[in-house]
Amino acid sequence: MLRALLSSALALAWLAQPGSAAELPIFDAHIHYSHDAWENLPPAAAIDVLRKAGVKRALVSSSGDDGTQRLAAAAPDLILPSLRPYRTRADVSTWVRDATVVGFLEDRLSRHRYVALGEFHVFGADADLPVMRRAVELARQHRLVLHAHGDAEAVERLFRQDPEARILWAHSGFTDPASVRAMLAKHSNLWCDLAFRSDPGSGGKVAPEWRALFIEFPDRFMVGTDTYTPERWLYVGEHAKWARGWLADLPAPLAERIAWKNGEALFASAITARQQ
Ligand SMILES: [Zn+2]
Repeated sequence: MLRALLSSALALAWLAQPGSAAELPIFDAHIHYSHDAWENLPPAAAIDVLRKAGVKRALVSSSGDDGTQRLAAAAPDLILPSLRPYRTRADVSTWVRDATVVGFLEDRLSRHRYVALGEFHVFGADADLPVMRRAVELARQHRLVLHAHGDAEAVERLFRQDPEARILWAHSGFTDPASVRAMLAKHSNLWCDLAFRSDPGSGGKVAPEWRALFIEFPDRFMVGTDTYTPERWLYVGEHAKWARGWLADLPAPLAERIAWKNGEALFASAITARQQ
């Protein structure tokens, strides 16, 4: 009995240690607050979900952009707004061939401040279509990170359009560690989110190939929930807890970088500008 008490007291003491993996703040690089989430989860409640999960900062993009604006107004310290080129979810598959998207982006950019453009979906040669090209130009003009959900070919094409672009590769391209490694080695302005995948880390363990990648590129990865449907909002707290679980399998400084410091660093100048 005494031993059990003692070990649980020790466990509690460990949990309470400042900077322990259990308390890692989270920079959630992949949050959407799209039109079908607004009614059941009003902005104040959504902010509450994020804060309770220990999310220190969230990169938010929404279909349509009003969702992002509402969250940013409710918690400007927490929300980093990203401009998604989708007015509704239906734009996901058509936007890159829809010239009216350009006017939408220009209008929003003239009225609001953003730190990123995306998350948008683009694959292969579609990355060189005029709407995508214009989006890259707008991102350059407004110093926005491109949050791109696409394959390596699309990312390559985006970098060819603007070699100075900063690209956050959504879901690390849903590709294998060797392919992610090749892209990171080639492009120093490429970062990767680990949203909606459990192969890098899960169940308190980091996969060996991913561990090697995290050690080789400690500054380039960040976590994210991906609330692409309203139900996913129920998972934000669980995701943060789950991420802390596998991050604890890494050396503490590396875990801190992936949990939040890399996100803070990528958006540092935008965060400073927003605080002024
Ligand atoms: Zn997404």
